[in-house]
Amino acid sequence: MAPPQRILFSPEKICMDWQQRQKAGAGLYNVGNTCFLNSVLQCLTYTPPLANYLLSHEHSSSCRQQGFCLMCIMEAHVNNAWNTSASAIQPRDVISALPRIGGHFMLGMQEDAHDFLRCTVTAMQRACLAGSSAWDTSSQYSTIVHQIFGGFLRSRVTCCSCKAVSNSCEAFLDVPLDIEAASSVTAALENFVKPERLAGENSFQCNRCDEMVTALKRFTIDRAPRVLTLCLKRFDFYGKKIGKFVQYPQYLDLWPYMSQGAAEPLRYALYAVLVHSGGSCQAGHYFCYTKASDGLWYQMNDTLVDRCDINTVLVQQAYLLFYVRAAGEKSLLRQRERSRSPWHGYDLRSQFVEYKEYYPLARRKRRMSPPSYDHAPNDNNLTKELIRIVQDTVIVTKQYKKFLQIMMAKLRKEACGRTPPRSALLPPARKEEQL
Ligand SMILES: [Zn+2]
Ligand SMILES: [Zn+2]
Repeated sequence: MAPPQRILFSPEKICMDWQQRQKAGAGLYNVGNTCFLNSVLQCLTYTPPLANYLLSHEHSSSCRQQGFCLMCIMEAHVNNAWNTSASAIQPRDVISALPRIGGHFMLGMQEDAHDFLRCTVTAMQRACLAGSSAWDTSSQYSTIVHQIFGGFLRSRVTCCSCKAVSNSCEAFLDVPLDIEAASSVTAALENFVKPERLAGENSFQCNRCDEMVTALKRFTIDRAPRVLTLCLKRFDFYGKKIGKFVQYPQYLDLWPYMSQGAAEPLRYALYAVLVHSGGSCQAGHYFCYTKASDGLWYQMNDTLVDRCDINTVLVQQAYLLFYVRAAGEKSLLRQRERSRSPWHGYDLRSQFVEYKEYYPLARRKRRMSPPSYDHAPNDNNLTKELIRIVQDTVIVTKQYKKFLQIMMAKLRKEACGRTPPRSALLPPARKEEQL
């Protein structure tokens, strides 16, 4: 995919860790079958990067939207839910916005929580693009909403006769998982990335063979989202429900389901579980469990907000699972992403393939001779990755050294009231260079 023409929201401004710590906020009044809406709102209210952003009022202070804007509505709601002294509030503005979130929603009807979540996130994305819908696709994926919830899925079809490979990539905001043949989320994810045989009626038109052939199709996650939403497909086309318990972990490593191998695990931590109780899609009740910024779990059931423990959270008939990328990923690899990436916000793992293309440019810019990348064995991703880490260390060190020199010069200038000779700045540099 082409680099974005413009980054609509700088990824460095996305805070994954809570910026303020307090116990869970208000419950939400049910105004008649609105538990689907309440439970989704509560999950979003405790989504760390989204809530941090909305609590900062950054959106409304720069919003140029005339009239309806779901980001403004969500910002007001989240601030109210967090800061009110009342034990419960009415999400009035979100309820009024229901027809604009999705034309098919009818107030007073029990709606599908996953459908509502999907429409809400999409409507927030539209709000972020307001006035700039003419952006190229890549730029559209650089909104804060897409950078929080969005990832990319790769579909790869391999012809069984000539081994030709064709790839396509598509953006996702959540991952739907078949649970009929799986007793756990990890098993469902394994099935999700398992190659599927395209044969008989489903044969694949191979361009190279120029005929219908048997082929293998495989989905993998190409770029991992900051917040991973998994939907356990409990309802069939007719609204009939699969009620079985499906095990889900508190911590999930997405690494085995990625397109590219990586040097380190891709850890996620569970922070919200949305539960459906009842026999079918049209009936029953939704409630949720969320982890507030105080690090404690709460059951949120319309107006009720009650403390609970993780053991209770992990044994529910989950419908939606929300995972946030775990902290502690600020490794050297992450620094590399920041210092080098010509287009911020793209995941390290998906950059891997593009690396060869933009690498010569990076080298020219930084006038350095790196260890030979091309001598790494072709199939050995780890070796290549290690070489890149070494290169990045060099770049980061050099940039840091320059920064220190500038700061030193400024300090000395302030102290002496004049610019020191250039030579005065250089002596200690020799030793630092050997870092
Ligand atoms: Zn707005
Ligand atoms: Zn072929």
